[in-house]
Amino acid sequence: MRQSRMFIPTMRETPQDADSLSHRLMLKAGMIKQMASGVYTYLPITKLVLNNIEQIVREEMNAIEGVEIHMPVLHPKELWQESGRWEAYGSELMRLEDRHGREFALGPTHEEIVTALLRDELKSYKKLPLTVFQIQTKFRDELRPRYGLLRGREFIMKDAYSFHSNEDSLDEKYQDMYMAYSKIFSRVGLNYRAVEADSGAIGGSHTHEFMALADIGEDTIVYTEESNYAANIEKAGCPIPEAKTVESTREIEKVATPEVKTCSALADFLDIKLEETTKTMIMKIDERYVMILLRGDHELNDVKVKTHFATDDIRFATDEEIKGLMQADPGSLGPVDAEIEVYLDHQVKNMQDYPTGANESGYHFINVNHKRDFEIGGYGDFRFIIEGEMAQDGSGPVKFMKGIEVGQVFKLGTKYSEAMNLNVLDENGRSTPVLMGCYGVGISRTLSAIVESHHDERGIIWPKSVTPFDVHIVTPNPKDKEAEAIAEELYTTLGADYRVLYDDRKERAGVKFADSDLIGLPFRVVVGRGAKEGIVEIKPRSSDASINLPVGELKQYLE
Ligand code: ATP
Ligand code: MG
Ligand code: MG
Ligand code: MG
Repeated sequence: MRQSRMFIPTMRETPQDADSLSHRLMLKAGMIKQMASGVYTYLPITKLVLNNIEQIVREEMNAIEGVEIHMPVLHPKELWQESGRWEAYGSELMRLEDRHGREFALGPTHEEIVTALLRDELKSYKKLPLTVFQIQTKFRDELRPRYGLLRGREFIMKDAYSFHSNEDSLDEKYQDMYMAYSKIFSRVGLNYRAVEADSGAIGGSHTHEFMALADIGEDTIVYTEESNYAANIEKAGCPIPEAKTVESTREIEKVATPEVKTCSALADFLDIKLEETTKTMIMKIDERYVMILLRGDHELNDVKVKTHFATDDIRFATDEEIKGLMQADPGSLGPVDAEIEVYLDHQVKNMQDYPTGANESGYHFINVNHKRDFEIGGYGDFRFIIEGEMAQDGSGPVKFMKGIEVGQVFKLGTKYSEAMNLNVLDENGRSTPVLMGCYGVGISRTLSAIVESHHDERGIIWPKSVTPFDVHIVTPNPKDKEAEAIAEELYTTLGADYRVLYDDRKERAGVKFADSDLIGLPFRVVVGRGAKEGIVEIKPRSSDASINLPVGELKQYLE
């Protein structure tokens, strides 16, 4: 494809109103355009990537005997009344009326429709098991649409439904789906965890969520280092634990308000040597007391505190620490009138590695996001990884991380078949409700999750499995006719084996390279000065090093 004929409206400036990294990058790379809150047009690059993700999903669904169908988006109210969800689904259900005053919903999920479809078609258990799936636009009037495609009100989902005459068959399909989902999320390049989940509103007995690991994720995963145990926080039943300091911190509260206390005495107690630029502070966050080692520019009394927290610098204060502090020097706990500016960066391991002056408010500690979890100048509402109680499987103390729910598999049992009379005749000729499973993948959300985890400061770095094109040919000097002719030829020859994007625009080299980095194709081939001698430069997007190659060796290199 010639870039001059494409529609990739890249931006030079970083969009300020975008609320997540993937959202910013996708706007900047000219991939999406917002039409209304949570409603987007998918521009060509996005469409190509979505096609690739969908293709992977199709292959894995077909491999476990899923057959593709396409059900309506318009759902008659009566079907949703049968299942009881016309009421139960609440405001997330988009509702509308036709010209005759008949009411409909715009499908947020298709259990009602698929159950109604099969009750008319299925008579005997001999037709089972059956698995159908579709890839379609879904509608949910989300309370807080945000983060670009991560939480839209109109989004693309693959939803599959399976039908069984016995538990074993349902178990087997559930297992197949679980494996298929694992393959899908590996193939698209996500670092994910499958977690035990709560069945919640949709009903059913057994369910797993597939979580792409990312700080922006709205779900909390509880896991252990010691085993494969992983559950979402609702299922794990262990909220981020309270510090065990409640009793003793009450005492502190009497001694000193407001909620920030200095404690050089704590250093003595803990046998830590405080440098001129290192101090310790106890902060009250979410009803808990947290001990923080401060480094960098700050003064603690009556002045603004400007500091950087590194991963190891922040943890809960223990009972002993608090007590020790009290005993050592209660006087040191005087109130501090400090405004705290917080810069958190989970990549910072120690301050020596930290370039002063390069700190931005967008940087964050693991699981702590600016604006979502704290405001500059404030000190409320932190959440971060700490060790908790013993995991349910007893393997070790639980830890926490953030995840984006990219998929979910459910055993529904007979919830819908009973409510909506989906029965078959069993071996003995008796009418029995069909067992069901349902399985969703957020296709558009998966795309955003991929961007969340595959990028650098210059733009996206597409995994090869989903990349919109394989190779980006760039001519840095539009006036160099010789180079252009060679690029044209290369475009044709490479095009026979690869999906090639050819930047033939009459733009400056700087613009072209910046766009090329933003769009993030796996390989860039620069046809420049060396072209006359038959040399082109090739650079993988994932590395900073480029090499010069004779044109003739390009294909070999790309293999
Ligand atoms: P969430 O907990 O994030 O609201 P959900 O549990 O309501 O998601 P499901 O009903 O399980 O979502 O739908 C299947 C999949 O559809 C989800 O795993 C997710 O990947 C995707 N999905 C759900 N809601 C949205 C949305 N608003 N925007 C984009 N994708 C979504
Ligand atoms: Mg939801
Ligand atoms: Mg969910
Ligand atoms: Mg879900």
